[in-house]
Amino acid sequence: MARTGKHALVTGGGSGIGVAIARALAGAGWQVTITSRNKEKLEAAAKAISRVHIEICDVTDADSVRVAVQAAAKAHGPVQLLVNNAGGVTSASFEKTSLESFRQTIDLNLMGVVHGIHAVLPQMKEGGWGRIVNIASTAGLTGYRYVSAYVAAKHAVVGLTKALALELAKTGITVNAVCPGYTDTEVIALAVKTIAKSSGRTQSEALATFTAANPQGRLVKPEEVAAAVLWLASDEAAAVNGIALPIAGGEVT
Ligand code: NDP
Repeated sequence: MARTGKHALVTGGGSGIGVAIARALAGAGWQVTITSRNKEKLEAAAKAISRVHIEICDVTDADSVRVAVQAAAKAHGPVQLLVNNAGGVTSASFEKTSLESFRQTIDLNLMGVVHGIHAVLPQMKEGGWGRIVNIASTAGLTGYRYVSAYVAAKHAVVGLTKALALELAKTGITVNAVCPGYTDTEVIALAVKTIAKSSGRTQSEALATFTAANPQGRLVKPEEVAAAVLWLASDEAAAVNGIALPIAGGEVT
């Protein structure tokens, strides 16, 4: 499945799952652009992967995304694969989540995806081929306590994926979502430390609060998420459209 001459853009590509996706795509011959708000993080990630270009942008800002996509396309040609990976979660009960915080979570996790798709769609349509892969979450398929805004945003991403898959079905573009369960990233490592510190539990007891959700009793590996993206991006997956693929050891099916 080695591929040359195709250009992928991965938002939030400077850390965690995004880096693993960028590494897998570059390894399979894609030219990759990674974006986020933090130049240092992007540069550090780009050093470790060959064939990676960086662009700074804030996915909550449509203009910023449009400018980054245009710059990436100028440097490496039209974006043919968009991986909407940038996202984030803050945890609080619904009643303690301010309206501002709720809106910020929707802006980042839903509108960020909308902005990315808006920016790349004309290029993909013109080329008659495209792949859009939205990194949602198991939180896009089922509910969790104390992350209502995130769950709402990720469910919306799954809905958007299904609607656009139909709308674009005759254009050569597919739109799919990948839904990881808790994944072994810095975000989870930090959460484990915080839980251990605030509850007096050991690190492994704190880790178990995450691994217990997965019937395999473990965290998902970022590389396992990346492998799903690589497959969805391939020519061979042309008939796979509008799915929300759980990568979660059977937690949701
Ligand atoms: P990270 O925090 O490592 O990655 C999130 C990335 O998004 C960072 O590179 C960050 O870069 C970028 N980002 C955040 N806000 C913005 C913004 N406003 N504009 C541009 N970029 C932004 O987390 P993960 O790797 O864990 O998460 C990646 C995706 O996977 C997210 O969508 C998350 O919801 C999803 N996911 C993660 C799971 C997990 O257990 N880790 C499980 C299921 C889904 P910077 O801050 O430098 O801008």
